[in-house]
Amino acid sequence: MADPADIAQLEIEQTESRLIANLKQQDVEPTDDCIECGNEINEARKKAIKTNLCIGCAELHEIKRKLFRR
Ligand SMILES: [Zn+2]
Repeated sequence: MADPADIAQLEIEQTESRLIANLKQQDVEPTDDCIECGNEINEARKKAIKTNLCIGCAELHEIKRKLFRR
């Protein structure tokens, strides 16, 4: 069973990696629609960061990056 402190640390790391992922996307050309699935990108998300991915695809990219990093 996982230690609660370990779980808290994991959550911090996940939040940090999400922020880093957002920073890394700042040099992309922003689009109205997701380049991966074609869904409309959330208005608040477009305002927050330059992105060409919807939140779902951005999460998927993040998960893939984590898997390949091992
Ligand atoms: Zn998408």
